[in-house]
Amino acid sequence: MVTLRLAVLALVFVVSSIFGKGQEGALHITSVSAAKQNNDLRVVIAANTTIEAFQKPERSGKVIVLRIPNADIDLHAVQPSCAAAGITVRTERIRNILVLRCTTTVPGEPRLERSGPTSLVLTLGPQGSHNGSPEQSTDTWDLDVIVIDAGHGGVDVGAEGVNGVYEKNITLSIAKRLRDKIHKAFPATKVVLTRDDDTFIELYRRTQIANEANGKLFISIHCNSMPTKPHKARGCETYILRPGRNDDAARVAARENASVKFESSTSRYAKLDEEQLIVATLAQRSFVRFSERLATSIQHEVSKGTGLKDRGVSQAGFYVLVGASMPNILFETAFLSNEEDARYISSAEGQEAVADAMVRALSTYSREWKRSSGR
Ligand SMILES: [Zn+2]
Repeated sequence: MVTLRLAVLALVFVVSSIFGKGQEGALHITSVSAAKQNNDLRVVIAANTTIEAFQKPERSGKVIVLRIPNADIDLHAVQPSCAAAGITVRTERIRNILVLRCTTTVPGEPRLERSGPTSLVLTLGPQGSHNGSPEQSTDTWDLDVIVIDAGHGGVDVGAEGVNGVYEKNITLSIAKRLRDKIHKAFPATKVVLTRDDDTFIELYRRTQIANEANGKLFISIHCNSMPTKPHKARGCETYILRPGRNDDAARVAARENASVKFESSTSRYAKLDEEQLIVATLAQRSFVRFSERLATSIQHEVSKGTGLKDRGVSQAGFYVLVGASMPNILFETAFLSNEEDARYISSAEGQEAVADAMVRALSTYSREWKRSSGR
């Protein structure tokens, strides 16, 4: 009996030392308070322990969304001073992420920064009073911004399908579905679309948008096509920027690069011959292996989860990928020159299945990324 009691005590001790420690270290937001300062609104978010990470705030109209991973919030943490200062704060937990939705009519770009290890200050001001502060916090997540590029747009319709569809419409529809699914699967990740309507965006501008948004991943979505239609070639393939000696890859790159003919000035594009491509690839050498991993994951998941055939990962010179300062890929979803592929990729089911598979690929990629960056 004594032995049993001792054993139970020992077990309680072990369990409490494992879990107790975790509890003690758990991050709790203990108070959210606000105050007006001249024209600025300052919201102070205080925690019981060091706030390891937080995401850059996102503003959409009156709503500002803040996300703090691995955090919880105490009941009654939101102080009456918030309402008094003209901001309402609603909180919810999505998986392990604490999401604070702040609503206010105070204008300006929100800025979130540390004020000591255990608190953050959100500042809002009328003329974005801090010059936009391009300096990114080093505390933000590795995969905090994913940029999705819907190929073509506006006057540049892209490939025309055997069923009459335009590539530009398919790519936009998949990009939006992918964005919504990423929001659901990774609530802490911000998604930037290079276009969300039927407008023409110059190729150089697309990676410029990605770089300005401090993207950690650039995904350009396209549809493949053969010069003669209908054609029996089918399936999906993913490209990374690298010199290649494959004629098929060169043909795909030439077709996608032809978008520059709609641009007012093409002089900004150096001819992407073998030598220039080596230079462009060298500029991406620090992250090309990540581009390759994402490409492999996408091929694996999309061919497994959809009716599309796996044509593998290829490499070629795409203008749209050249300027990216982050891992990047170009995904050719399906052949619009093939009747079955065109029907599949034009359908809502096909597009949903492709976007779902891409999210699974991103999930695998994100795990690998974290592992290799020691997180
Ligand atoms: Zn395209």
